[in-house]
Amino acid sequence: MLASLGTMPELARQLSGLGGCTHPIRLDGHRTEYEVNQTTGEIGRVLNHLDSTTLPAGNLLVRCNNRRATRCAACAEIYRRDTYQLITAGLRGGKGTPEQVATHPRVFATFTAPSFGPVHNRPSSGRACRCGTRHDETDPALGTPIDPETYDYEAAVLWNAHAGALWRRFSIYLRREVAKRGGLTQRAFRDHARISFAKVAEYQKRGAVHFHAVIRLDGPEGGDTSPPAWATAELLTHAIRAATTAARVNGPQIDGRAHTFTFGRQLDIRTIRSADFDDGQELTERAVAAYIAKYATKGAETATGTLDRPIRFLAELAQARITDHARRMIRTAWTLGARPELADLRLRAWAHMLGFRGHFSTKSRRYSTTLGALRDARAEWRRAQAAPVAPQDGETTLVLAHWVFAGTGLSNAEAWLAASVHGDSRLSREAAREAGRDHTDLEGAAA
Ligand SMILES: [Zn+2]
Ligand SMILES: [Zn+2]
Repeated sequence: MLASLGTMPELARQLSGLGGCTHPIRLDGHRTEYEVNQTTGEIGRVLNHLDSTTLPAGNLLVRCNNRRATRCAACAEIYRRDTYQLITAGLRGGKGTPEQVATHPRVFATFTAPSFGPVHNRPSSGRACRCGTRHDETDPALGTPIDPETYDYEAAVLWNAHAGALWRRFSIYLRREVAKRGGLTQRAFRDHARISFAKVAEYQKRGAVHFHAVIRLDGPEGGDTSPPAWATAELLTHAIRAATTAARVNGPQIDGRAHTFTFGRQLDIRTIRSADFDDGQELTERAVAAYIAKYATKGAETATGTLDRPIRFLAELAQARITDHARRMIRTAWTLGARPELADLRLRAWAHMLGFRGHFSTKSRRYSTTLGALRDARAEWRRAQAAPVAPQDGETTLVLAHWVFAGTGLSNAEAWLAASVHGDSRLSREAAREAGRDHTDLEGAAA
């Protein structure tokens, strides 16, 4: 079997570039990098040529970059680290964001869905659940409806489907509320301050989406301008409360019932302090970034125990190993998805997400860097390491490339080899970290 692997050391080297990705994208094609004279525009030497047919695996292998830990553990880990860096940059500066953002008012807020019916829980008072049982922390019943027959599945699914619109409404109201407290009209507000945020969506056990957000108040030009003196974390907190209460989205009318969506009463807002001022009580930048990053790699499947990919037929639910609650949420989404008036909610395509079709992590433009920028920086670094000939001063490069999709995944033999190679590279990564180096070559391709 291993004879079919070609030259093992070369294949091992190619696979090690994947950094543990188990479902890489396979590409056929070529890429040529030429030297270009900046003054004359003349195309010169070939600096680098890559043809997929000459690669040990027979294809160029590119990381799948899947966010979900259940789909690709290695790529989800990179996504988690990138999210951590993105959130941290927005709190402390770095990666192109000025350090003065650390002095701006910043809060960490959690927005929840309203109740759709009583669920099994562990009251903080230490009393028993409404069902009479004292549930163990690991009881799978926690978060599931006490009476599934009366639980409002229709509203629960539709709330998820409108959660993105509700957030947008909230962000408009927040601007209005902050402006009002600063004694400004909305029009004048933009000359004084700007609100930036980064948020992640997470599922509660009951299958309702909730949002965690870092919200920051900057000067008019964003992070590198100081907010006005009246802009405090306390003012921001009050404005968030008011905007959350006011936010409301009118939903569809279903069998004579008009749906309206609001956030739940449970709203948690905490001021974020710099690590320097941490006395162990406050919520620090580091804790917030770690928390958001952790949830960025979780889908509905982690908290609610639903599916991590779309379903094509309702019959698939029968074989799926999921909770009854998740099954009912999915079935409700599927059934509502048949209604032509709800077509724009695409409930069948997003049934496995329990109706939520938004992005898992979003941020406003001025918050900090982007995941794309972090990815580009890593790819650039990797190319620089791989380039056999560096261009001369005053010269730039031209890249001609053509790639076509050739499939996904690894053969059994490749997977085996990749797993053993990844084990080794993890050890060398640890060694590199011990040596104090910032190890960034995790994005893999041909190399
Ligand atoms: Zn992957
Ligand atoms: Zn209970």
